[in-house]
Amino acid sequence: MSGAAGSGTSGGGMTSGAGMGGMSIVGAGGMSLAGSGGADAGGTNTGGTNAGGAPGTGVPSTSMFKLQSAATWRGNATAAYSIIHDDVCDDSAVGVFSSAQPMLKAHGLSAGFGVIVGECDKTASNDMGDIDANTGNKKWDEVISLAADGNDIFSHSWDHPCIDGFVKGTKTIAQNPFAGDSCGVPSTVTGDGLTVYKDTTAEQHEIGDAATTLKAKLLPTVPEFSNDFFIFPYDYCNVSAIAFLKSLGYLGARCGIPADTSMVPVSPNNFADGFNVFYDVFGPAYSHYVIDIASAKRGGGCTPIVQYCNATYASGAGDPGCKATAAKPDDAGCCPATSADPTSCINYVNNQYVDDTIAAGGWGIREFHGFHPLDDDGGFETISPADYGTHLDYVKAKRDAGSLWVSGPSPVLRYRFARDACALPTVTAGNTLHFPAPSANCSKYKTILSYLVETTDATDPVLVSVKQGGKSLPVKKLGVGHYVVDADPTLGDAVLSL
Ligand SMILES: [Zn+2]
Repeated sequence: MSGAAGSGTSGGGMTSGAGMGGMSIVGAGGMSLAGSGGADAGGTNTGGTNAGGAPGTGVPSTSMFKLQSAATWRGNATAAYSIIHDDVCDDSAVGVFSSAQPMLKAHGLSAGFGVIVGECDKTASNDMGDIDANTGNKKWDEVISLAADGNDIFSHSWDHPCIDGFVKGTKTIAQNPFAGDSCGVPSTVTGDGLTVYKDTTAEQHEIGDAATTLKAKLLPTVPEFSNDFFIFPYDYCNVSAIAFLKSLGYLGARCGIPADTSMVPVSPNNFADGFNVFYDVFGPAYSHYVIDIASAKRGGGCTPIVQYCNATYASGAGDPGCKATAAKPDDAGCCPATSADPTSCINYVNNQYVDDTIAAGGWGIREFHGFHPLDDDGGFETISPADYGTHLDYVKAKRDAGSLWVSGPSPVLRYRFARDACALPTVTAGNTLHFPAPSANCSKYKTILSYLVETTDATDPVLVSVKQGGKSLPVKKLGVGHYVVDADPTLGDAVLSL
């Protein structure tokens, strides 16, 4: 825990770190070298390359910096990691406001929040007759507050139906733990074993209307809201729904379960399809990390928790959200209550996934819901604030060590594709990243990228900032004469400032 909620922590995870300390910038339009030469690293930054070294001239010679590459992830982190809370605005997940939001803020972290749009828009007078008790007030103020904290907001449908039973990829019905339950009733089975079920009416309402309302509610006060990502209710994916999402301009969806259960659910850093990204579901009973107890491949600390409750779900009697609670102690067939799961298992599920994500250098998505005990009556696999805090401590430490870029999924998607779509800048005047006019795809994925630069003569100046369009963006020193600097490749020249 720290008060490090300062610049760069919410959107990019880039900490200013080395290079910010003690350096004064003199002058508005340019910069001053006064105070740096001779004081830092033996004065190597002047080195005869700075137009005579006169303080205030500001512009290094053309040999000053050169570009190495775009960093794989923002801030040159080893991997990207997104926490997502599902079912936001539903009465089963009110703990996202009282626990997740303040705890993330206290850690200087941001996350993704998938809102059930109809639930956010619901009042006592327009209850749509679903199973949840109505608590009265629309929750848009709370959602906007999440966004104002730098969190990523996106749609989790209008009313959380099973949009369908198709699971993208090679998952078959037999492998689908929900097959036959109240969500995923397959209407047809194709020859390759995939379930196909289409309901375009549901698509228009659950995806289209939800998107229209979400934008109308957020954009007036959150102009940066980009509506890039979608999370399917019950994690069912559907080829028809994905095509519809693409037609609306979405960039990705949480869809794509590894067919091989021994496969770590981390998307590689060069994943090709934003609509087929991997994730891991909390709690332990639904996680990849307890799936192979029998083979001892996974499951550290999780014995005897088992994956899914197949018998009950297969009978159609199960509720994917069921769990034993004080009110329902005999909810036979339900997975073990999270509150009864060993802390060692909970920590293993959450933190091992982070470790695996870092080891793969890819993108991991952790799916959470509400909190124990607040959301236990109906909440899906709740987590206690204490266990959540333990995880955030772990994530923050990895972020601070440069191993993780912690962000909602929309910025990660944009970064991954902009990294390929946007041409690298050239270095002009020794200190300016000069970007060509952006391609259509670069503009589509518009975001801030991180660039690795180094001095051309192995000098080691204190690089204070990069300025683009009058705005300062983060700079981080990586080593002697090596830096990572942020810039938006669609916004023209970015000037490195000593
Ligand atoms: Zn949900």
